[in-house]
Amino acid sequence: MNTKPKNTAEPADFAHVTEWVFDLDNTLYPHHINLFSQIDRNMTAYVAELLQLDPEEARVLQKRYYHEHGTTLQGLMIHYGIDPNDFLEKAHAIDYSALLPDPELGEAIKALPGRKFILTNGSVKHAEAAAGALGILDHFEDIFDIVAAGYLPKPAGQTYEKFAALKQLDTKRAAMFEDLPRNLVAPRAMGMKTVLLVPRNLEGIVMERWEIPAETDDHIDYITDNLSEFLVGLQDSRA
Ligand SMILES: [Mg+2]
Repeated sequence: MNTKPKNTAEPADFAHVTEWVFDLDNTLYPHHINLFSQIDRNMTAYVAELLQLDPEEARVLQKRYYHEHGTTLQGLMIHYGIDPNDFLEKAHAIDYSALLPDPELGEAIKALPGRKFILTNGSVKHAEAAAGALGILDHFEDIFDIVAAGYLPKPAGQTYEKFAALKQLDTKRAAMFEDLPRNLVAPRAMGMKTVLLVPRNLEGIVMERWEIPAETDDHIDYITDNLSEFLVGLQDSRA
């Protein structure tokens, strides 16, 4: 049975939650900041240089790996045995100045009862830089990154299980926030509440078909375009 995801926070649904797990890119900062487009360009350039392809060919291959393996990195490791550290270093050589402090989000995260984590397919260095720029880094107990995941990216179930085991996460008392629908399948199966972040204005945003939520996505409990507002909505009932 499919039940349509809800758009506003129902505090009672989260009253049991003490483990808060957040994706980083396009989740802790909105899609329109477009930080990821810089990483995307760096990855295209990396593929082009590695395989001596023109940018267009490199982009096609990059996107194929992203689709088939969850990340470009995973595809390049499997097919070309590249050095992941070198790749991560180059991919994340970006300008973070578009990210401004978000005190509203910081307060909302701080007010959540329990432990907070970042679970990202990027690197710790990237997560620290981004969350640092947003002024929210101190609110997180830990960052579980693609290196900790043994380079096996979300949506792989093993990666969530590895994270949960390492952090002794009580998944029945956990909530996961993500911008990619498929990355919420495993968390939901593990008993977590799932919240999908969507762009505030879809116009002009190019997304892959599989990046867009479908009516049949019954692994998504909530959909929101404003993380701070959603989290504040959870606090109201706790007072
Ligand atoms: Mg993301």
